Amino acid sequence: MGVARYLTRAVLAAGAALLLPLTAAAQVCDVPNCLRDAETEQVLHEFMDPIFVAAGLKPSEVYLVLVQDPTLNAFVANGQHIHVNTGTIIQTDTPEQLKGVLAHETGHITLGHAITRDNAMRAGSGISLISMGLGILAMAAGHPDAGVALIGSSSEFGILTIFKYTRIEESAADQAALTYLDKTHQSPMGLIQFFEKFRYEELMSESKQDPYFVSHPISSDRIQQIRRRAGEIEARAQPQSEHDIHELALIKAKLIGYLGPPNRVFNKYPLSDTSEPAQYARAFSAYRSTDIQTAIKDTQKLIDDHPDNPYYDELMGQILFESGKIDESITYHRKSVELAPDQPILKINLARSLTESKNMDNVKEALNVLKDSIAQERSNPFAWFSLANAYGKLGKEPEADLATAEEAYYVGAMSRAHTFATRATMKLNPQTPEGRRAQDIASVTDPRLQAQRGR
Ligand SMILES: [Zn+2]
Repeated sequence: MGVARYLTRAVLAAGAALLLPLTAAAQVCDVPNCLRDAETEQVLHEFMDPIFVAAGLKPSEVYLVLVQDPTLNAFVANGQHIHVNTGTIIQTDTPEQLKGVLAHETGHITLGHAITRDNAMRAGSGISLISMGLGILAMAAGHPDAGVALIGSSSEFGILTIFKYTRIEESAADQAALTYLDKTHQSPMGLIQFFEKFRYEELMSESKQDPYFVSHPISSDRIQQIRRRAGEIEARAQPQSEHDIHELALIKAKLIGYLGPPNRVFNKYPLSDTSEPAQYARAFSAYRSTDIQTAIKDTQKLIDDHPDNPYYDELMGQILFESGKIDESITYHRKSVELAPDQPILKINLARSLTESKNMDNVKEALNVLKDSIAQERSNPFAWFSLANAYGKLGKEPEADLATAEEAYYVGAMSRAHTFATRATMKLNPQTPEGRRAQDIASVTDPRLQAQRGR
């Protein structure tokens, strides 16, 4: 684990102008139930970056957005944001299938397919972090203008009807996917398997209609066309690596363990299964069911057996933090950051533990850790939320107000951003970068300007 570089939108954001356009605020998440997870995002990038390169895209400019939704779907929205449902990852059997589906989405990007939206929906605030568990629900509850439920299925939000490509676009995206797979010496059979597996289920059950096949209308013609080129590409392809197979098994186990319910976890990963993914799924499930003793015991075993995996330390840190063992949690979060220094989310976890400890030196350290995280990924509202918290503990109210304004800005809560930025301008020196930033946010979120834009 942790071998590949981690490319995030941070790379983009860090180089962007100080003041991002207002529309950028909600860029991270285009649906109400996004989920952030360092490990899953890393694996998806590891799988997809070579394909992005083959497609002529810059990997750092393609966002892979995880959507908490048990149904099958993947779609492109908002430029280069590939959204993938947790249900898609869980239901794919092999890396080849997942890569095939996402290579097809990559085709939609490069071909510039505009998706038809029946119903515009913006919900930049609807993000949760796997590594923050319930804490984040409380954060949302404290911010009524966040406005959207964090957990729910897509059908509740009507996403089923939002995205739709035409059949011609579908075929073109398939052909593009085949080209990218060929260029990266990967088999197209995963894409065919994926279509056939779920197409069969669709036909067999009238009640089951996954949004994937609404957004991507499928026909037997399409599969025929893919098959026509598949043979020769397959002949040139290399077999899937054991590494990829293992990585997919781990993120599937994590998502299943995290999303539950426990009986489903234990069905799929019975105690008799002593594989690493099964242990991971059960550890996550125990943590989610607040069976803390089991969660700690299972996670410790994973750490002992795989001391280089940052995500087992992340999980342990999270379990300890949420059971009030703050100082112990710091040790694990610190180790996860040491093992994966390019992961901004892991830094937020560490900073959160440092901020909650009684030791003020720890709180000061949290500030630096968060600034580091923000330098890597500026638009993450959780980082700003945590920064506001740390400043608050240190009695630095104007800085805390500015951080809160940033957090509000990045979730698209403009009136709250305006209130806090305005408050910050009253106490910050206007000659400092912080003072200027507060003024900038206050002016772009000015309700009068917002009303003008609205018209
Ligand atoms: Zn499609």
